[in-house]
Amino acid sequence: AKTRGRARFEIFEPPMRQAAENRFRIESDMRQAIERGEFKPFFQPIVRLDGQTHAGFEALVRWEHAQRGFIGPGEFIPVAEENGLINEIGLQVMEGTMRQVAAWRRAGQWQEGWYVSVNVSGVQLRDAGLVERFTDLRSQLGLLVGDIRIEVTESSVIANQDVAFGLLPRLKEQGFLLCMDDFGTGYSSLSYLSELPFDVLKIDRSFITDLCRRQELGALVNTVISLADSMGMIVVAEGVEEPAQCEALHKLHCGYGQGYMFSRPMNAANATAWLEAAARP
Ligand code: C2E
Ligand code: CA
Ligand code: CA
Ligand code: CA
Repeated sequence: AKTRGRARFEIFEPPMRQAAENRFRIESDMRQAIERGEFKPFFQPIVRLDGQTHAGFEALVRWEHAQRGFIGPGEFIPVAEENGLINEIGLQVMEGTMRQVAAWRRAGQWQEGWYVSVNVSGVQLRDAGLVERFTDLRSQLGLLVGDIRIEVTESSVIANQDVAFGLLPRLKEQGFLLCMDDFGTGYSSLSYLSELPFDVLKIDRSFITDLCRRQELGALVNTVISLADSMGMIVVAEGVEEPAQCEALHKLHCGYGQGYMFSRPMNAANATAWLEAAARP
């Protein structure tokens, strides 16, 4: 009776209030999920296009919700960035990733040179203690410098310029290679590339999807790869779904690819099986 009464009551609530209540509910759900450790990294392979061997993983967060199952980041990252909980979620993803790498190392399933690239939100760039938290965790868990890379989107750098220009070089000094994520979707890409110490450039999926159907995209991707080359940066193409895209990218001397063609993001157990297969001759 109680729930029915409430449902009827909601019909008469102004939508604004309902939206606010929804947000509030999601926020308190999130807080509880943080306490329960429900934010887990999944792992998607990044593959060397020459020979298609394993190079590393990208960590992609999933919320393992007791009732709803796995929830993708599109549903909660924007909310978490607004209410600030992204700081704690991001830390949980970083710690979960580092613990997993430590476990792979202990089990002898890790090869030197492999890495996991972790997404860091623009909001996290405003946290002055971030560099120390990441380096402390890394040394506590016995990882090597180089095991973990950091991905930031160019739009989050632009939106947080004041802090990004301080924090990103400090992360780099501590040995975290820096990846510019979603390259080509923001503004002023070129100036940021030259002014910040990025090591890796990830070409956004929107340029790869129609790569084989639209000639101008080939020219564009070619230019981006030459540019990256001349600046000493590594290139990863995102959203590689078909062998034809893979071949085209290889011909354009793109070093690395990531996408459903190789694998979807995997839970820890499947990622472990992937590494075991990668280690077999
Ligand atoms: P992103 O960093 O650009 O990550 C790549 C997204 O593309 C992932 O979506 C991945 O599953 C998807 N993807 C990979 N290969 C393919 C493909 O071949 N085709 C298609 N259609 N999609 C592909 P996902 O996991 O839903 O993540 C979406 C976004 O959420 C990420 O985009 C990233 O911006 C954000 N995100 C994910 N994990 C984290 C995190 O731990 N922290 C923060 N701050 N953001 C995260
Ligand atoms: Ca990313
Ligand atoms: Ca991306
Ligand atoms: Ca993207």
